[in-house]
Amino acid sequence: MEMREAPTPELKNDTDVLVKLKVVAVCGSDVHYYVSGKIGSQVVQYPFPVGHECAGVVEKVGSAVSRVKEGDRIAVEPAMSCGECDQCQAGRPHTCRKLTFLGCPGQADGCLSDFIVMPEHSCFPIPDSLSFDEAAISEPLAIGVYAVNRSIPMQGANIGILGFGPIGMSVQLPAIAKGAEKVYVTDKIDGRLQIARESGASYAGNVDKTDVVKEILELEPKGLDVVFECCGQKEAIDQAFDLLKPGGVLMLIGIPEFDRWSFPVDKGRHKEVTIINVRRQNGAVEETLEMLENRSADVSKMPTHRFSFEDTKKAFDLVAAYGDGVMKAMIDF
Ligand SMILES: [Zn+2]
Ligand SMILES: [Zn+2]
Repeated sequence: MEMREAPTPELKNDTDVLVKLKVVAVCGSDVHYYVSGKIGSQVVQYPFPVGHECAGVVEKVGSAVSRVKEGDRIAVEPAMSCGECDQCQAGRPHTCRKLTFLGCPGQADGCLSDFIVMPEHSCFPIPDSLSFDEAAISEPLAIGVYAVNRSIPMQGANIGILGFGPIGMSVQLPAIAKGAEKVYVTDKIDGRLQIARESGASYAGNVDKTDVVKEILELEPKGLDVVFECCGQKEAIDQAFDLLKPGGVLMLIGIPEFDRWSFPVDKGRHKEVTIINVRRQNGAVEETLEMLENRSADVSKMPTHRFSFEDTKKAFDLVAAYGDGVMKAMIDF
């Protein structure tokens, strides 16, 4: 990874917005590209700027833009859908046939750059009470809000969150805000488990140090209503099938390094487990910004490390190594 000079991008359509970046949050998926050069079929051709969790200020707007004006502080929705295909028409812009995504190889340059151009429908003005950090974190948080909404009603639910990185935390906060009764969290990093406890987990266990399945089932003998897989690890799927109660729901959110999941057929059948894949988020940005604004979701514990734009490589190396108990590394411009 290196810094390169690049021309300031131009507005191409009259609905485009030029955004001056203020904060970028480093995502696990950005680090996947940095470490492996690809995620599944999405392969990086060097040089390519990654990054998609960002907040900034509107620098310039196209002639037809009405949502935002110069000087507005905004959160950025990185997905750009066509609005015309069957998926968009069916209210599924997140699986748009022509979807492009900020910082996704072959689709759109990422936001680790002083300026980016986004269509106006990706720009969400934020109130003064929201920080740029919160605006950038609204992107992963929206994935958690969507995953929770896509699962089961949270009121009184007992849930598991396997993997407490930023996405695990992004599931926990809305789940609790929406009434989850008990939240069981697992991870391999003690610092993250500490954040989970401080943010309302009733249990937080380190899978490397203890038999988390045994401990959770002792506390919850009937099993869990829903398990959110947020780490992309094979072992987590086995744990999920053990932890779920009959009729339980498994939400797959983590991005694994491998190409195929496997799960125990016998347990899956006998418990009649429902498996739901989560593809980023759909329509959850506004609800997420509202939750941040009314303080029903507190993300202040998520950013654990800060770097200047020039030190982006250091941030990526830290996150790649899971160093120093890192949860979310923030890049300041
Ligand atoms: Zn992300
Ligand atoms: Zn479409």
